[in-house]
Amino acid sequence: MTSQTHPVDHELIEAAAHVARSRCRGDNHTMAAAARARDGRIVTAVNAYHFTGGPCAELVVVGAAAAQGVYELETIVAVGDRERGVVPPCGRCRQVLLDYFPGLRVIVGDGDRVRAVPVADLLPETYVWADHQLDAG
Ligand SMILES: [Zn+2]
Repeated sequence: MTSQTHPVDHELIEAAAHVARSRCRGDNHTMAAAARARDGRIVTAVNAYHFTGGPCAELVVVGAAAAQGVYELETIVAVGDRERGVVPPCGRCRQVLLDYFPGLRVIVGDGDRVRAVPVADLLPETYVWADHQLDAG
């Protein structure tokens, strides 16, 4: 596997950290995510926790972006409340992000180990949904 890394979008991390500090409340909203659109815009969101499977902040940000007409995301990061810093995406989010945005970069790590990696690097030997549809080549 390649361990390709890209320059880290620190403005994006700060956008997510700001939302985490200012908008997360109680047990329902504990994570914030920020995504950089291809056109440079930043879209932010928080998770909507529920025991039935409420969406993570990364998935809410995908929907929030679409609601603003943004369908191409280049980079995403999630930051925890209570100053937890950058939090890597869970397995479900990794799969969704790969299927929606195969070229997406995900910011992971913390402190001086923070880095941007291709989403595919977070899912080795992955199942690719599009490859298994009836119209797949
Ligand atoms: Zn998740």
